[in-house]
Amino acid sequence: MKATRELCERTLAFLEQQRLPATPRNYALGFFHCWGTLPALSQAIAAIIDGGVRVTQQEADSLYAGFLGGVMGESPTPPAEPATPGTDVLRHQALRLVDLAASAQAVTGEFSRELAFRLEDFSEDDLAPLRELLIATLARSQRSERELAATTAQLEQMRSKLEIAQGDAERDALTGLPNRRGIEAHLARACADGEPRVIAMCDIDRFKSYNDRYGHAVGDRVLRTVAASLKSSLDDEFVGRWGGEEFLLVLRGDLAAAHLMVDEARLALGDRHFRLRETDEPMGRITFSAGITTLPPDESSIAAAMERADALLYQAKEQGRDRVIAG
Ligand code: GH3
Ligand code: MG
Ligand code: MG
Repeated sequence: MKATRELCERTLAFLEQQRLPATPRNYALGFFHCWGTLPALSQAIAAIIDGGVRVTQQEADSLYAGFLGGVMGESPTPPAEPATPGTDVLRHQALRLVDLAASAQAVTGEFSRELAFRLEDFSEDDLAPLRELLIATLARSQRSERELAATTAQLEQMRSKLEIAQGDAERDALTGLPNRRGIEAHLARACADGEPRVIAMCDIDRFKSYNDRYGHAVGDRVLRTVAASLKSSLDDEFVGRWGGEEFLLVLRGDLAAAHLMVDEARLALGDRHFRLRETDEPMGRITFSAGITTLPPDESSIAAAMERADALLYQAKEQGRDRVIAG
């Protein structure tokens, strides 16, 4: 009991001395430092604070990434990238917030699982004070996660208003393809003409890794390239950007024929050799997964067909990505 309380108190005192807020990451860093089970981490911290210098948040982040990121199963924080002019700045800020909210969620989960695992070393009696502290820390991080989600939703709204103000309300400014509103209008028209169609929901595989490795501006280029590749593979079929890195195709013909077409589009994209414009570094294969299903000519069936396509896309991801599943 005494040892546990002391460890908690030492962790909090350490964070206070360093003027670091008790976020899950900082707390975990202080916890392992004070516990002393990671000597290399403790030495690195000692080297910084030797001579009365405080650990900055930036240093804490890089210590966390270096010593605890692997333990907690996270990828290191991507470096900040220079701002690009125009509306891209706003869009990229919104994207960063989305990513931040997603990683806050992942960290909260990992953090509580990791500590629950470590706590097995203590007896039941020892746990009470630590548990209280953890509940308070987790509640704080969940609150900020909710705030982030609300801010992100506001930014998304601003982004779409901006697009409308800038011109075509049914076209996505980045890729030039019909946006979600344009897709919905097209689906309604397609259902009205009485012919069955096939829809395909396509999602770029591991797209976030391009943003993380090269920055959002390169991620944007990947999106434009995939849009152009889909357009050129699918001739005059309908290609729209559903949102993020998801594209919706509306194809004529039966399911088997449409399946072949989407698969060919997938192979055509995978066959291209992409290189980073700035350094000529190869970027590896860019692939997508897709779920495809029939759309009966009835407007009331659109929502159900989209859900089926989404579920099939999820299966394609589960089965290893870079594939098209029809159903
Ligand atoms: P999976 O194979 O499971 O689909 O993984 P993923 O990385 O593609 O999927 P995830 O949903 O984790 O990441 C999607 C990312 O797409 C997160 C978001 O920041 C990014 N994104 C969404 N819209 C844009 C955009 O307009 N530009 C850029 N650069 N990134 C975007
Ligand atoms: Mg996606
Ligand atoms: Mg994806």
